[in-house]
Formats: sequence, C-alpha cells, structure tokens
Amino acid sequence: MRYVLLNLPIRGNRSQLEGYRDMRELVKLTIDGQEVRVQPGVTIYWAAKAAGIEIPHLCYGEDIHPLSSCRLCVVEVEGMKNLAASCTYPVSAGMVVRTTTERVQKARRLNLELILSDHDVSCITCEKSGSCSLEKYAYEFGISESIFTGPDRAKNVFPIKEENPFIVRDYNKCILCGRCVLACSELQFDSAIDYADRGFKAHISTAFDRPLQDTPCEFCGRCISVCPVGALTEKERVKKGREWEFEVTSTICPYCGCGCTLEMHTKDGKLIKVTTPAKGTVSKGNLCVKGKFGIYYINHPERLTTPLIRKATKSGASGGKPAAKGGTSGAAKGGEFVEASWDEALDLVAKRLREIKDKHGPGVIGGLSSAKCTNEENYVFQKFMRAVIGTNNVDHCARLCHSSTVAGLAKAFGSGAMTNSITELRFADCIFVTGSNTTEAHPIIGLEIKAAVKKNGATLIVADPREIDLVGVAALHLRQRSGTDVALFNGMMQVILSEGLEDKDFIEKRTEDFEKFKAVVMQYTPEKVEKITGVPKEKIIQAARLYARAGSASIIYSMGITQHTTGTDNVLSLANLAMVTGNVGKKSTGVNPLRGQNNVQGACDLGALPNVYPGYQQVANPQVKEKFEKAWQASLSPVPGLTVVEMLHGTEDGKIRAMYTMGENPFLSDPNINRVKKDLEALEFLVVQDIFLSDTAQYADVVLPAASFAEKDGTFTNTERRVQLLRKVLDPPGKAKADWQILGELAARLGYPMSYTSTAEIMEEIAGLTPIYGGMSLNRLQGFGLQWPCPDREHPGTPYLHKGMFSRGRGLFNPVEYIPPAEEPDAEYPLLLTTGRILYHFHTGTMSRRVDGLHAIRPDGFVEIHPDDAAVLKLSDGDMAQITSRRGTVTAKTVVTERSRPGTVFMTFHYREAAANILTNDALDPVAKIPEFKVCAVKVKKASAGKKKEAVKART
Ligand code: SF4
Repeated sequence: MRYVLLNLPIRGNRSQLEGYRDMRELVKLTIDGQEVRVQPGVTIYWAAKAAGIEIPHLCYGEDIHPLSSCRLCVVEVEGMKNLAASCTYPVSAGMVVRTTTERVQKARRLNLELILSDHDVSCITCEKSGSCSLEKYAYEFGISESIFTGPDRAKNVFPIKEENPFIVRDYNKCILCGRCVLACSELQFDSAIDYADRGFKAHISTAFDRPLQDTPCEFCGRCISVCPVGALTEKERVKKGREWEFEVTSTICPYCGCGCTLEMHTKDGKLIKVTTPAKGTVSKGNLCVKGKFGIYYINHPERLTTPLIRKATKSGASGGKPAAKGGTSGAAKGGEFVEASWDEALDLVAKRLREIKDKHGPGVIGGLSSAKCTNEENYVFQKFMRAVIGTNNVDHCARLCHSSTVAGLAKAFGSGAMTNSITELRFADCIFVTGSNTTEAHPIIGLEIKAAVKKNGATLIVADPREIDLVGVAALHLRQRSGTDVALFNGMMQVILSEGLEDKDFIEKRTEDFEKFKAVVMQYTPEKVEKITGVPKEKIIQAARLYARAGSASIIYSMGITQHTTGTDNVLSLANLAMVTGNVGKKSTGVNPLRGQNNVQGACDLGALPNVYPGYQQVANPQVKEKFEKAWQASLSPVPGLTVVEMLHGTEDGKIRAMYTMGENPFLSDPNINRVKKDLEALEFLVVQDIFLSDTAQYADVVLPAASFAEKDGTFTNTERRVQLLRKVLDPPGKAKADWQILGELAARLGYPMSYTSTAEIMEEIAGLTPIYGGMSLNRLQGFGLQWPCPDREHPGTPYLHKGMFSRGRGLFNPVEYIPPAEEPDAEYPLLLTTGRILYHFHTGTMSRRVDGLHAIRPDGFVEIHPDDAAVLKLSDGDMAQITSRRGTVTAKTVVTERSRPGTVFMTFHYREAAANILTNDALDPVAKIPEFKVCAVKVKKASAGKKKEAVKART
C-alpha cells in the first residue's frame, strides 16, 4: 500500500512544507514492510505516522524542535550500525525502516528503565495518572519498577514549588525531556525556564530559582500541556478528580476577539481545568493566561441566580449581595433588591416598558446589546428593540472600541471588518502594528506576530506612544505623540509617493480618487510630520520604505487608532496606506482591526447597531426595511437610532427614559463616569441582564440573571470574521437562563411571540435574512467554523476580503488632514493621559477580577509615569498618585517606567477603585460617535494620606 504525505514538518518546522505539491520529488521508502512516499527531508517519525505507525516518544513535541534525548523513538534502519532516533533522522530514497524489532524494543525498554530510575513513581496520587505518557509506556512494556536506582528525584529531594497562583511544579517527577523549556522559548517566546545544574542534580528552573511570577512567565500554561508526566500541574485541579472522571467539552473563549478554542474539563457540574487542541483552531495549542486560568469566574459564588426587583425601603438604605472584588454591593439608587420569580420580574419589566412606550413613544427606550453574548442573542436583542419596542435605539460596546473601523473601512473598501486571517500574519514580509498592544490585548495574535518575526524573518514596525512588548522584536519603533496618527501615516505615504514606491498598477486598476488624496498627502513632508508627531524624520522615511518595499505587508491596529475624535480619519488613513502600496486583496496583507471582545464582530454583524439591520443592511433603506418588516411581521422605524453615549446623554433631557442593558457595564466602560452616574440615576426604568451584579446593575430597577458563555450554545464570530460554535458545558446556576430565552419570554408578554426553541432555529432565520451569513448553519460550523462572507450552503467561507474587487467596487482613497485631539495638555493640565488593557484583566473586570489567580498577580490599578515626569512630581515607584482631569479625580499606585513617553501617563480601565474613565473625555468622533478614550489632559500629584486610605478602602 502507498502513502503520500503532504504538509508534514521537516524537523519540526511545518511552515517549510506549506504548499508542497511536486509529486515527482517524493522519496520512496519502506517502513515495517509498507511502501511510503514522503517529501525529502521529512523525518522517519513523520513518515511512519503517515503510514499509521505510532512510534513511542517522550521528549518530542510536534511544534518544537526535536531533542532526541529520551531515545524512546529509536528505530532500526537497514544498513545502519546504530539505532536511529526517528524524531530527527530524515528519510532517504530506498530506506528500509523497522520500528518494532527485538533490538529496538530492548533499547526502548532500557531507556525507559533509566528514565524511571530518576522519577518519583507516585502514580497512585499523581494528578496526571491516566494521561501520563511515561505511565502509558511503562504499562505497555510491563515495567513496574526500575532495575536502576537513582539518587535524587526518585527520593523526593526537590521541594514542590507552589508559590504562584496557577502552576504546581514537582521536579521529582520531571524526566528532563526539555519539552517545557522549548515550548516556553519556541512557542511562547518567553524563555522563563531553563535547565539548571548538572548530572543527578540537573533540573528545570527559573534563573536564580525565582518564583515564576518574578520571571518573564506569562502563565500561558503551555508548559503544562506539553509536559508528558506529572511534573507540571494546574493548581486549581489538584485533588479535584482523576483524568478519566472528567467530561471534556469544546467551546470558545469568552474574553478577547482571538476566538481560541477551550476544552473545558468538568466534573460534578464544576470546571476543573482548561486545555486547547494543538490543531484545527485559532489557538494552535496556545492559550493566554485568561483562557487557560481565567475561566473560573463561572463557578463564583456571586453569580446571579435569581431575578431581583428593587423595592423601596423606609430608610432608603441599599441592600443586595455582598461586595465582590471589583464589584459593589447593594443598590446605588436607594431601596433594596429583593429576590423575585421570573414571572414577577418579567411581568414588571413588560408593564413598565409598555407604560413608558405608551406615554412617550418607543423612541425614549434604549437598548444595549452585548459583545459578550452569542450571535443568536444579539440577533434576538436587536429584533426585540426594533420589532417589539419599535425603535432603532440599539447599540453595544463596539461603539466604544471599533465603530470608527466599521465606518472607515466600509467607506474605503465597502466592508468594515478585518480584511485578512490570523494565520496569514505568519507569512507576511512586513507587519505594521499601530495602536495595538497585541501581546497583552490579543495574546494569541501577538504570538503569530512574534512567530512571523522570529521564525520567518518578517520585518516588524511598531508605531505606538508606549514601548509595548512587541517593540522588543521590532525592526523599528515610531513613538508618535498620542493623537497624531493621521500626520504620521500621511508622512509615510508622502515618502512612498515621493520615492515612486507606490503600486501604480493597483492604484489605476483597483481604486478611485487617488489624485485628490495625493494632493493632501504631499503636504506632509517628513520635516513637518516630525514636528507634529515627535517621530524623527529618518524613522518616518525608513518605515515608509520598509512597508512599501515588502512583498506582502499587513497592517494591524486596534483601539489606539480608533478611540479618538479622529478615529474614522485614522482608519481611512490606514486604508489609504494599504491601497497606495497595493497591500489589499492578497494573502498576508490588508488592514486588520483587532476586535476587543469575544463577539464584538458578531454583535456588529447581527445588527446590534442603531443604523443597520443584520449584515450591515441600512435601516434607512426602504427596500431593506420592507424586507425585514415582511420577515418579522412588524412595522419598523426608518429612522436610525441613538448610539451608546447619545442614549446616556439623552437621559439628561428626557430623550431617553428607560434602558435595557444585556451584558454591558456602561458605568465603568463609558467615558466621564461621573456624568454616566448621573445619567443612570436619571432613568425612570433600568433593566440589567447579566451574570454578576455589575456596577451598572446598582442602578437597575430589575436585574435578570443570565447564563454565562459556558452554560449555553450558539455561535461567536471572532476578529477574523470566523463564526465558531459555542457548546453548552454546564447548567446555569439557580434560575439563570440564556439571554435569548429571557428575551423570548419578555417579547411574548409584550404581545410579540419570539418562541424560538433552539439557537439552531435562530441561526436559520439569521441565514435567511443576512447575506454574509447566508450559508451558515450550526451543522456547517462544526470544526473550525466558517469565515464570512459565506453567501450560500456550498460556499467555503472567505479567508481574505477584496480579492480582485473591493466590496464597494473600487477602493476609495480619502484625503485626510491631521486634526489635533479634542483636549490637549495645557498649563493647568500639563500631562496627556492614555488608556489601555493589561494581560491579566479584561475590560471592566467583571469576569477577570473574580478569578483569584488573576487578582493575585495584578490586584491594583496603576498609573505609569516616565522617570523625567516622576522626578518633577517627586513621585517614586509604589507611591499613591492623584490624577485629575477636567471631569474628575482618581488615585492609583505609581509605576515609574520608560514604557510611557515623557509627558504621557498611562492607566488601565479594569479597576473600579482607580477607574480611568472618571478622567476620560466623552468628546465624540463626528462620524462614528466613538469617544476619545485615548487622549485627555490631566495633572498628577502625590496623593495625600487621606486619599491613600480611601483607595485602600475602595479596594477592600
Ligand atoms: Fe481567550 Fe483571547 Fe486569551 Fe485566546 S488570546 S485564550 S481568546 S483571552
């Protein structure tokens, strides 16, 4: 029988063989009597695997370099004196290989005995028992005890290391295979661990035996997943059950927009541990700390389990649940929450919404849908607001992160989404990252970028005011002043055009309005741009040349670009940059916005926006309106609704009187929190549907308990437009229900039955009304999902957009002038504040701050200050600083670091006790209505003792 191998790794490097198709060059050999044909350079191990022959191995891992140290994979090669390690030995024509001869088995047995002699054989209590490779091979070879005696590990001489919150390290069980060391350096690029000492004392260690949290370790947990024995274990799972007792369900991560696959191991209704498959997923065996260790919030005792209704008390005192880390107790609005049945709660919501609608019309009711919820739930929510309530006042947090992307890319290209796919990044010649702290906000995409640079030699350009982690592997760092992005990009394009580096053919055949654009851009000379941005002109010229001369260049950006009053201009400018060099519509190129939340792409796709129905079909278009009226059997409003910030501000003059928020926490996520607080207080009626009693829920009249991502099924769409299946892992706690079920029951009470029986049924309806999702069904989404557009049931999905033709026909060049931010530093507020995320927390902290391990690693909010500014302000590392803007004051711990530019301070918005959004500016981009989170003016001083005490109190 013949086997032909394609796309197999050469010595662990899969990418070298991508696309290999020349059958004439295949090498023919024989393995255990079978004829096999493989590519030249493939190892015997892989050739055997293709022939269905599994060769035992301990030190070899598929994506890391082979070490051939365990010698378990040895095979006999005819004509060779010694046995060959199949994991490293390449095939050759006519080779005859035998994998199970007596000599081979004897050698393997001897090697196993040697490994076992230096291994703590405590399989009875070992957490890995049942999935340990050494245990498996010892069983297969019938070895219960080694004939050798080892002096160290087998006698438990190494202290068990449990100093960090996530990983238990027991090096008495370590067999020194080195997989964890290689995974850490080759897959995670951290190099937090290495070999230490020699001989019997040899062990895996951190430099100077430091606790893991004091090393570059990012707690991705990849070391645990590659460890073939029980030396590394998830701390959370210890003594919670044996491997064979766990039920494993595959689903999608609820944190960022990467869309990693999570295998949830559960027992008795509790999450025990999380792993991820090595193949067929976005994550490719990697997870970040939040996906690996940050899911335990679903088991948290503060989960909402029953509906709550605010009832007035004589004293007006607050009541409700006890305080959570990052949450508040009781009702900020006065009165107290009392438990209610679903009937009581939903009857009250229906009654109040009907009353307000009858008295003031549907336009005074606003709804916030959720990027945390499924596509099906977002579809049902916007349908509820439009068909049941009768308004287009529906929006969600995309308004706060990427509405400028949707507006800008739709205008330039005709489609407001990431143009290319995550995996294509690895094969780009040049990657231009701007306004994206990718390794912290989108860690798995950060790994792809590092892999492109470190493994495939891509050139990385980073344009960011902060010295983010990616700067460490970049060829060039452009450190522009926050809010000067348009000037910087125009400067690069001026150089490209001046030096004739543009793609003339692409411009002529694929685009329009080039001359208008050119007339503006040519005014941005490097000298002028240096003055505006602070970036030396030499670097602007170098960046322009590197980007324009690359065979394929990919732009990655995120909220550093979008969250400005000029957010749409920034996006249009990046689109210009890609078009002028012909870097759109091809593999490994494009303009790639990284979406922040797990399903923010899906929430946009499914019409949780005030101006479009699902599939970006315009609300104001009469034919579209008619189509949805017919399908939904409802009369729909032709007037686009209000955005998130407009709805909240609308409470100030009675334009908005009631709101329904599903899985959103505007109290912490919106700018200018002091104003948001007053806006929430001004509402006549507020419904909050969520999994925890969030800060916003403190202002609610009714709180409805929702199921978390792990307790329902449906689909999420990740940042690369990939629609993936979410599977139910556990039952919701108490009386909590899936959001779509709650909405269905409420709609029925309002006289519009939405009695869906499953998410598959909802997806069928979506596919019928949403051309870009036309070919989707839950059945088709098994496996690796589908990327939209996928217009029909035969369509395979679209890895990259605008091939041959833009969605709008020709790509549109837009002349964009630089406009300064709405608020700049001045004599009174001399510093510039910018905000962002950190690896260990997410968004408003509702989920991540309820995970003990994440909280232990990063318990406090902080403000980063450059040493020059810190010296002037007499602030030292660890001092409490008071930061004040025109909108409010917060206190936070000082971190003195050169990561921030002089004159710029940085804060995260995860911490309610140091809420950066008290300070941020709610000035809006005129097109996308996105607030200017990324720039505002502040003053900083050392906090007084009283303020320090207040900050401590707020934390506890
Ligand atoms: Fe989850 Fe994003 Fe981390 Fe992947 S990178 S595990 S999707 S948080």
